[in-house]
Amino acid sequence: MTNPAEHVDVLIIGAGLSGIGAAHHIQDAFPDRTYAILEARDAIGGTWDLFRYPGVRSDSDMHTLGYRFRPWTQAKAIADGPSILEYIRATAAEAGIDRHIRYGHRVVHAAWSSADAVWTVEAEHDGRPVRFTTRFLYSCSGYYRYDAGHQPDLPGIERFGGTVVHPQHWPEDLDHTGKKVVVIGSGATAVTLVPAMADRAAHVTMLQRSPTYIMALPSVDAIATRLRRLVGTDRAYALVRWKNVLVMTLFYQLSRRRPRVAKTIIRKAAIRRLPAGYDVDTHFKPRYQPWDQRLCLVPDGDLFTAIRDGTASVVTDRIAGFHAGGIRLESGADLDADIVVTATGLRLLPLGGIRLTVDGRDVVLPETKAYKGMMLSGVPNFAFTIGYVNASWTLKADLVGEYVVRLLRHMDAYGYDRCEPVDDDPAVARRPLLDFQAGYVLRSIGEFPHAGSRQPWRLGMSYAHDVVTLRHRRIDDGVLRFFRRTEDAAGYDAPRAARGSSGSP
Ligand SMILES: Cc1cc2nc3c(=O)[nH]c(=O)nc-3n(C[C@H](O)[C@H](O)[C@H](O)COP(=O)(O)OP(=O)(O)OC[C@H]3O[C@@H](n4cnc5c(N)ncnc54)[C@H](O)[C@@H]3O)c2cc1C
Repeated sequence: MTNPAEHVDVLIIGAGLSGIGAAHHIQDAFPDRTYAILEARDAIGGTWDLFRYPGVRSDSDMHTLGYRFRPWTQAKAIADGPSILEYIRATAAEAGIDRHIRYGHRVVHAAWSSADAVWTVEAEHDGRPVRFTTRFLYSCSGYYRYDAGHQPDLPGIERFGGTVVHPQHWPEDLDHTGKKVVVIGSGATAVTLVPAMADRAAHVTMLQRSPTYIMALPSVDAIATRLRRLVGTDRAYALVRWKNVLVMTLFYQLSRRRPRVAKTIIRKAAIRRLPAGYDVDTHFKPRYQPWDQRLCLVPDGDLFTAIRDGTASVVTDRIAGFHAGGIRLESGADLDADIVVTATGLRLLPLGGIRLTVDGRDVVLPETKAYKGMMLSGVPNFAFTIGYVNASWTLKADLVGEYVVRLLRHMDAYGYDRCEPVDDDPAVARRPLLDFQAGYVLRSIGEFPHAGSRQPWRLGMSYAHDVVTLRHRRIDDGVLRFFRRTEDAAGYDAPRAARGSSGSP
């Protein structure tokens, strides 16, 4: 027999960076409301607890990857994984959020009932089903699979006599001292691993099929350090956050509008840090435009330094096969290896793999549209967090948290039980939710909800724009519809004809 369902006002899924932030927003705004966080793993921190490979770090600055409500006070703006994990843990502990986390609860199904205006959420815990009910379901379950990373077909890898590791499952006892290491890949993880392992390895080779745009950034933000002394931690944090948003936005816009200028800037900066006569065209000249895929940042140019010092090198080629001692390349060259790291990316997974049903009907995610990039058409009382691909994740996560608070206040003020984005404008065409050409996105974007060609369905990749729409624009915009259960509970009032009605009180 299953135990009776426990009821909470808001149910958050996931205790990563987003889930802890979401809990902070809810708890701060509604101290009398009940909430819980269901977390599949036995740990807080999500990404920042899972990934344990050498050198794991952020690839965006912590003034924007940190929460708006909790200044990042450390000197390093590009921070290592353990420091980020500690920041998330401390945020949860200081506000007592950690007491609301139910560890080892993997959510498998969430069913909305319009008759009761309630979600019934089923989780697996210790091999048993556990049920919760909630008025509002808030998914902060990240965007990729935790159990397995992307493993492309590597012909003959079983013949390799050394150690093969995927960065997502780094063995605690792997010692690379004095070993020949080949890192397959050219994304953020590969460019982090290569200089981090080069210190102790005999040599590290980054083997890439094609190059990525890579830019050096100071790990310590000198302006932030100076401002902290001048105006104090809180004000400095707010100022540097906006400074970094501005710099990121300007470079992103330059890359989209004047790609040749952006390419020249990136190329010249790389040449300055690489050895004289280095073959930049082969190894650092991508075939795509800057920001078609995420730009890789390397703190203080550590990757370029390792190449200059001769402890690391880049090979741009294709794998023909493996042999006991390494990798044979299509060019005919051989790469000796004791350790091969397959930094080949993530496997995306929408909404933590949770099955959603609304009044008994399955929600087919690709048939839904994402409203303001944070709610789903036809799915009531539900929000999710997916961050920006061209800026720090938390910028969006915080805005979603603020918006959910405004939304719940609005519903309280008017006595609504249900809110639901309605996609009934035939003029809105479907667009991919992530308009990004990276392989890991292209492989699975078909499983995700769509965005639309117009506001409020259009993909928002601009923080400044989202600050206006999510923090300030009216909640009651005519697309998000509100319903009240009638007093005899026989059904709902007709959807509120919202256009022209007053906004939030
Ligand atoms: C190696 C790496 C480096 C990154 N660096 C950056 C960076 O520098 N800047 C940046 O902006 N972004 C970066 N990202 C993206 C990064 O994932 C986000 O910044 C952020 O950490 C995501 O937080 P999250 O809480 O939304 O998701 P996650 O960190 O993925 O956490 C999701 C949590 O939800 C839980 N969960 C999932 N499904 C379920 C379920 N069904 N039931 C219960 N619980 C569930 C998971 O166990 C996990 O704890 C990086 C990603 C990776 C993989």
